[in-house]
Amino acid sequence: MSLASGLPTPIRKLLADAELVLEAPYTRRIFTNRDLAFDRITVIGFDMDYTLALYRQDELEALSIRCTLDKLLQRGYPEALREIRSDPTFAIRGLVVDKRYGNIIKMDRHGYVGRAFHGKRLLPRPERKSLYRSQRLGTERERFAPVDTLFALPEVTLFAEVVDLIDHRPELWPSGPPTYAQAWLDVRECIDQAHQDGSLKDLIQGDIGRYFQIDPELGQTLHKFRSAGKKLFLLTNSLLPYTDHVMRYVLGGQLAAYDHWRDYFDWVIVGARKPDFFTGAAAFQELDLADRPLGKPVPEPKRGRIYLGGNQQGLQTALGVHSDEVLYVGDHIYGDIVKSKKSSGWRTALIVEDLEHELDVRRDRHVTLKEIEHLTWLRISLADDISAQRYLSRLLARMSPEELVRQGVAAAEAEHMLADTRATVRKRFDRLRRYEEEVADTLERRIADVDEAFNPYWGSVFAARRDTSRFGAQVESYACIYTSRVTNFRYASPTKYFHSPHGSMPHWHGPPK
Ligand code: IMP
Ligand code: MG
Repeated sequence: MSLASGLPTPIRKLLADAELVLEAPYTRRIFTNRDLAFDRITVIGFDMDYTLALYRQDELEALSIRCTLDKLLQRGYPEALREIRSDPTFAIRGLVVDKRYGNIIKMDRHGYVGRAFHGKRLLPRPERKSLYRSQRLGTERERFAPVDTLFALPEVTLFAEVVDLIDHRPELWPSGPPTYAQAWLDVRECIDQAHQDGSLKDLIQGDIGRYFQIDPELGQTLHKFRSAGKKLFLLTNSLLPYTDHVMRYVLGGQLAAYDHWRDYFDWVIVGARKPDFFTGAAAFQELDLADRPLGKPVPEPKRGRIYLGGNQQGLQTALGVHSDEVLYVGDHIYGDIVKSKKSSGWRTALIVEDLEHELDVRRDRHVTLKEIEHLTWLRISLADDISAQRYLSRLLARMSPEELVRQGVAAAEAEHMLADTRATVRKRFDRLRRYEEEVADTLERRIADVDEAFNPYWGSVFAARRDTSRFGAQVESYACIYTSRVTNFRYASPTKYFHSPHGSMPHWHGPPK
């Protein structure tokens, strides 16, 4: 219920105008995995790329592919790759690349592979099953590469295209095509270089409006935290010139009270080298605004200054609060969330842009989703009935008329009785089977319909059939709260208690009504 519901309309309007009460739109709510008392959070840290600064994914993907292609061609990859068009729906977060076989797979929370593409060809079920019966991500780290951030999507798309080219046009490599694993390594190294040697960032900075979304509520959101007495810091892997350029674009000039984007933050750390930042011991190098080092590296950062590198413990000491009073907001499930949760003791908020689309589809297809839920239970219950009838048929098949006679049935009747009963059970079995097939068929169609709406290649980012996806399970385990964008906090009171609805096991629930 909204805080202001029941209050006279003019008062509600005044409160809303003063931004004291705002109701979050449906797709912009904040979800809780682990209880979090917001008023006990005294310091909030932010990642920059894909957290404070939201890219236009289509544009960035197209550009990343272009820059990476240039480098691949220099390594002797065929010109034909230039024909590749980016396909922003192909790769999603949470997928895993199987370098050995040139496949891209989606797993559920248990590591079961429910969908796989070889290049851009969907692997038929038998092939998928034979390859992925018993693989375990944890023990085969060399073979698998997880897709943990939106930055990684273009390399997955590019890899899939290269795999297709290796399969269908191997003659394009005069001395033979690379192995899939080598192709992955080449794509990875080229995109890595593109990020580091300026080729990507120079183009982004040269046309910044094309690559970033502006969220006009960002300044107000950060200001709201500050006026509630919270201290803020920026902790990004990007280096200062890029950080400065991007932050000026996404935040600069939004509120008159803040001359410069830096004024929103008490501490600024660039080139942080997360995830190593959370476990390493690197010192903090102070920088001036022109990116020049000031003095010698220090063990702790001071307020109001800008530092390059450093480590979590040094920052923690400088913050002067207990680690559970710090909330870190980031988009990288591993580098920002898993790693910080495991090693820093900070509370975590994950930004998942995909959530808005996910919620839109869930709202749009809520009837179909209900139907899927219902049909699934129906199918389970039919499967139970069918297996009971099958067992009964087997018992009846083994039963002889003589046994019935020993039970007192007249000899003339025993054979009939047994035959009739067998026929009745058979009929019931057949009827249930037909019903099950119909239900299964409808269920498949409904699931396909909803999956298509989520993503035509992969379905939902968060779900895998009836279970959570590997990504969904990571979100559940490591992100205390998650939401689609930082500005959604604008709708949350700084003293809000985020309650987790979870904490349940299968045996805590009764059977479906
Ligand atoms: P964040 O601000 O901590 O999210 O860090 C994002 C920074 O990492 C950006 O400057 C990206 O260009 C950079 N980055 C993303 N992917 C790669 C990569 O594969 N290699 C090197 N840098 C990367
Ligand atoms: Mg980021």
